[in-house]
Order: sequence, then structure tokens, then C-alpha cells
Amino acid sequence: MSKFYITTAIVYINNTPHLGFIYELTGTDVLARYHRMIGDETFFLTGSDEHSLNVERRAREEGLSTKDFSDRMAEVYRQIESRFQISYDRFIRTEDPDHVKGVQDFIERIKQHDDIYKGTYEGWYCTSCEEFKQDADLRDGFCLIHPTLKATYLKEENYFFALSRYQDRLLEHFEKHPQFVQPESRRNEILSIIRGGLRDFSISRSTVRWGVPFPGDDRHVVYVGATPSPTTSPASAMAATRRSSRRGGRRTCMSLGKTSRVFTPSTGRPC
Ligand SMILES: [Zn+2]
Repeated sequence: MSKFYITTAIVYINNTPHLGFIYELTGTDVLARYHRMIGDETFFLTGSDEHSLNVERRAREEGLSTKDFSDRMAEVYRQIESRFQISYDRFIRTEDPDHVKGVQDFIERIKQHDDIYKGTYEGWYCTSCEEFKQDADLRDGFCLIHPTLKATYLKEENYFFALSRYQDRLLEHFEKHPQFVQPESRRNEILSIIRGGLRDFSISRSTVRWGVPFPGDDRHVVYVGATPSPTTSPASAMAATRRSSRRGGRRTCMSLGKTSRVFTPSTGRPC
């Protein structure tokens, strides 16, 4: 009997669900059900991504604490999954204590490899994307993804992940495992991004309070873009994922949203 682990991206709860959310879930559900049907020991993870400035802001607008707002929105998503009979084995929330611990363990492990350093980030920031933008990402000072939202200039102390050190290793991995990202058009897209040069990126925020405290520095929280990785990565330190990874460690998939990209991170085999 094979072991099979599959996860969706975990959903951002600052707003109510849209059709793309259901599309991703039903597609992943079909794969999970298929693998159970052929007798694979299957673990299917889904959940909610709750930490961010946008969630803080939305909670304020609703007159709720961030915790109460997150509880309410996570329940909205859980109920929708139930209505569509999504057969997940666990709905994980980034507020769950084992997730918080998993993220902190994940950051500690990166620190042990000397891949994290402290620096200052200065530049244009889109509050909706919650990320710093390059000039090419802006038009007349407005975010290309949010064309009605003017970027603001920010200077902030951040911890950085030294992604640039991994460029050659990533290219080599993609060469050796052509099915690591599917379909091929998406693989080519990712390859062209890597060949274009990878930059180190910020993995903490010192201006946001709603998040996972950064290990060793309580003035920072882990950047929201970095917290789902340990949740959904089969090789992570995240407790629930560790369990599912042991159970399904040989074949792992992550299906990603509206573009229906399917990853097979551990073996490069198709789902
Ligand atoms: Zn934006």
C-alpha cells in the first residue's frame, strides 16, 4: 500500500470565499478520494491562514478582536468545506498552537543553517499584497495587482532569508526532477524566475503584532508569506504535517488555487 499526502494552499481569511477557493478544494478532494479508493493510506490537509495586517484591519472594521474575527472567518470556511463534503483529514489554522510551534521550529532550523540575517528594508510597500514592491511591480506608484491602491514608502528592520544562496541548487533540482512542478508551462515560468536571479527576502515584520512571534526576537512576527510553508510542506517541522508526512511520506502533492498548479515536492512523480 502506498502512502499519499496532499494539501491545498491554506486560505487567507480577510474576506469571504470565492469560486476559486471551491475549485481548488474540489480538485484536491478528487485526488484525495481517488488515492483512498485505490487503497493508498491518504492524508488530506486544508486550513486557514489568519495572520496578517489585512486581517487585523478587517477585524477593526468589524469591531471585533483579531482572535474573534479569525474564529468567525475560519468557521465560515470550515462550514463551506463541510457543505461541499470536502473529505479533509485536518483543517489547520495558523492560530493552532501546534502550527505556531511548527513555524517557530521551522525558523529555528533555518537559523541553524545561517540562512537568516537581520537587515533594513526600505522601499515601496503594498498594504494589500503585504509585501515590498520593485519598480516593475508598480505603475505611477500604484500596485499592478491592486491598481486603486497607492504603495506607501516604508523603512523597517526585518529578518531576511538568504534565498539567493539556493539559486544553483534549485536549478539543479528542477533539471533532475522535470515533474517537480506541473504542468510544464508553470515549470517553465518558475525556471525563468529562478534564472532571472533570486533575491533574499524578508521573513519578519516589526510593524505587525498579529502573527507568530519570531523566535529569539519578540519585537518581530514571522511574515505571513513565510508561515504557510511549514503548514503545507511535507518535510516541515509542523507537528500535524509531521504526522501526515510520516504516514504519507513517499508521495506528496500541493495543489495551488485558481491556476490549478500541482506540485510533487518530494519525489517529482505526478499525483
Ligand atoms: Zn498589491
